Amino acid sequence: MTNTKLNPAAEEGPSWLTEPCPQWCVATHREEDMVDDRLHFASWQRFIALPSAAPVMVGESQRPRMRELLVYVEQHVGHEDGPRVVITDSHSEEHERRFSLDEAIGVGVALFHGISIISDGKTSIRSLERVYKVQGE
Ligand SMILES: [Zn+2]
Repeated sequence: MTNTKLNPAAEEGPSWLTEPCPQWCVATHREEDMVDDRLHFASWQRFIALPSAAPVMVGESQRPRMRELLVYVEQHVGHEDGPRVVITDSHSEEHERRFSLDEAIGVGVALFHGISIISDGKTSIRSLERVYKVQGE
């Protein structure tokens, strides 16, 4: 992978971490991390409110909350051959979807195309501008 840096912590890091962290990884990796916790992850994440969806019941009191999606980036060390863009219900992992780079590009392009079909050009441009700003963060 060309988009990597040598994480100084990795040089003295856990034995299970045999390759440098991706450039976007902000994780602190420890020898005692359980297999499921051996993740490269980015500081970036986005919550997307879904006011048109049915509310979700949360907690012991089953209070209704607005459904929202959570989008983030991570890679399971040793389990995945590359990073994934993850889209999941923010209140549950029940509907989690993990996309490789090419798959995520396909989803993104399809979503943007759908936006362009149902909106005027100005809305599409504003949407693209929002995407561009996210990349600059
Ligand atoms: Zn890492």
